[in-house]
Amino acid sequence: MGSPDSSSFASGTFPHKNPTLPFWRTQLHELDDHRSTEELPESCDILIIGGGYAGIAAAYHLLCGHESSNNPRPSIVLAEARQACSGATGRNGGHLRPAVYPRIPSYTKQFGLEAAVEVADFEFDHVPAIAALVEKEKIDCDFTLTKSFDIYTDKVQAETAKKYYDEFKAAGIAKSTMDDLIWTDAEHAEEVSGVKGCIGCFSFTAAHLWPYKLMLHLLQRAGSNGLILQTNTPVTSISPSTFGLGRCTATTSRGPITATKVIFATNAYTAGLLPEYATKIVPSKGICCRIVTPPSTTHPPLTNTYVLRLPKGGFDYLVPRKDGSIIVGGARTTFFNDHRNWYNNTDDSTLIASAASYFDNYMQTYFHGWEDSGARVDQTWTGILGYTSDELPSVGEVPGRDGCFIAAGFEGHGMPVIWLVMKGIAEMVAMGKRFEEVRIPRIYKTTRERLESEVDLLAPKKKV
Ligand SMILES: Cc1cc2nc3c(=O)[nH]c(=O)nc-3n(C[C@H](O)[C@H](O)[C@H](O)COP(=O)(O)OP(=O)(O)OC[C@H]3O[C@@H](n4cnc5c(N)ncnc54)[C@H](O)[C@@H]3O)c2cc1C
Repeated sequence: MGSPDSSSFASGTFPHKNPTLPFWRTQLHELDDHRSTEELPESCDILIIGGGYAGIAAAYHLLCGHESSNNPRPSIVLAEARQACSGATGRNGGHLRPAVYPRIPSYTKQFGLEAAVEVADFEFDHVPAIAALVEKEKIDCDFTLTKSFDIYTDKVQAETAKKYYDEFKAAGIAKSTMDDLIWTDAEHAEEVSGVKGCIGCFSFTAAHLWPYKLMLHLLQRAGSNGLILQTNTPVTSISPSTFGLGRCTATTSRGPITATKVIFATNAYTAGLLPEYATKIVPSKGICCRIVTPPSTTHPPLTNTYVLRLPKGGFDYLVPRKDGSIIVGGARTTFFNDHRNWYNNTDDSTLIASAASYFDNYMQTYFHGWEDSGARVDQTWTGILGYTSDELPSVGEVPGRDGCFIAAGFEGHGMPVIWLVMKGIAEMVAMGKRFEEVRIPRIYKTTRERLESEVDLLAPKKKV
C-alpha cells in the first residue's frame, strides 16, 4: 500500500505526512500499511479513529476480550491516517512505568485522597496486566520486568518527595504502590544508582518493551477476529448534522463511512475532528534517541530503567535494552522554555533543533564508569504528544455528541494508563455501561465542565 495522497492530509491538527524514523519502526510488520478491504466499507457498527495504543487496545478489548461469548461480534473499522502505530506509540521510550507517588499529593489536594489513590492503584495494575497479556498471547515484544530509578539531583525536590513518601507509608495510603517503593538516601544514592550527582532516589517495579511489536501483535489478533483495518486513511471530519440521529458520518480521504458509535483514539490530533478539545489537548513535540556502544567497550552494566530529574526542570527517561542499546528521551531544558519549539506542533518530520545534540555524550556525562565507553547516538526522532490543559486524559462519552467516545490526552505517560482505560471504554461502547460502571479513574472523565474550564496549565508562560 503506497503513501496517502498529500491532499488527504488536511492542514491543522492532523498527522504529518513524512515523520522521522523511530528505532521501533525499523522492523515493520506485514500489517503496517495494511487495508483489510480494497474499498472503505460504507458503514460499520463501531468506527475507531487512530491506530496507536488506544485505538488498537480498543479493537483488541472489543473483539478478543470475550471470545467465549455467544453474542455476535460488532463490525469494527479502524481508520489510521498513516501506518499502524506510527504516532506517539511508535516513537516513545517503551517505558511502562507507573509514576504515581509524586502525583498523589497534588491529586489529593485537587480531588481528594480517594480519587488520588484510585489513579495510583490503576497505574500500578498496568505492569502485571501487560505482563499477563504478553504471557497469554505469547507476544514477542522484548517485554522486560525491571526496577526503575527515580533520580533526584535537587535537595528540596528530594526532601519533599521523601517527606510525602514517609507520610503516605505511615498512613497506609496507596499501600501497593508505597510498599513497592524503596528510598535510598544521599549517602548511598550515587553508588546504588550509578548516576553522577544523585542525592536521593526511589526504585520501584516497572517494565519496558518494544511498543510497536506489542501493538502490531494485538492488531493481528483483532484482525483475526474480524477487525477491518484501514491504514493511510485520514478521517478529515465528522458530520455534525447526523449527531443525535443514531449514526455519525466520518469523511475520509477515501470517502465517507457511517457508524453507530465512534471511538476517537486520536490523542494529540483530537482537535482536528473535535474542535471543542482545541485548547484542552494540544499537540506537543517531543524528542527521543537510541544510544549504542562499540562491541569491545567496558562499562558498568545497566539493568534498571531511569528517570533523571535534573537541574532547571530537566526530566529525562532512559531505558537500557537487552541488545545493549539505550533509549533516552526528554531534553526538555533545551527547548521547553520557548513554546515555539513544541507547543501546538504536529510536525514530527523534523528534529527539535535546539535539542538535536543534547544526547551526545549523555552516558559519559551522567553515568559513573561510562566515561570511556564510546557510547554514541545512533538514531534520533521526534513524536507528537497530547499534552493537556489540566494534566489529565479525557476519557468517556464526548459531551453533546451521542455515540462518540474519546480516550486521548495521555501526555508523556500513556503506557501505564491506556490499556485499562480502553478496557473500560470497550465496556461502555459494547455493553452500554456508564462511565461510573467501569473501572476508569473518575478524574479522567471528560465533562462539559472540564471543556468549559478556564484552567490552562499548558499555555505559554505558565508551564515552563
Ligand atoms: C517522544 C515520546 C516519548 C514518549 N515516551 C513515553 C514513555 O516512555 N512511556 C509512556 O508511558 N509514554 C510515553 N510517551 C507517551 C505515549 O507514547 C503516549 O501517551 C501514547 O502512545 C498515546 O497513545 P495513543 O494511541 O493515544 O496516541 P498515538 O499513538 O499518537 O495514536 C494516535 C493515532 O491516531 C492517528 N490519527 C490522529 N488523527 C487521525 C485522523 N484524523 N484520522 C485517522 N487517524 C488519525 C495518528 O496517526 C496516530 O497513529 C511518549 C511520547 C513521545 C512522543
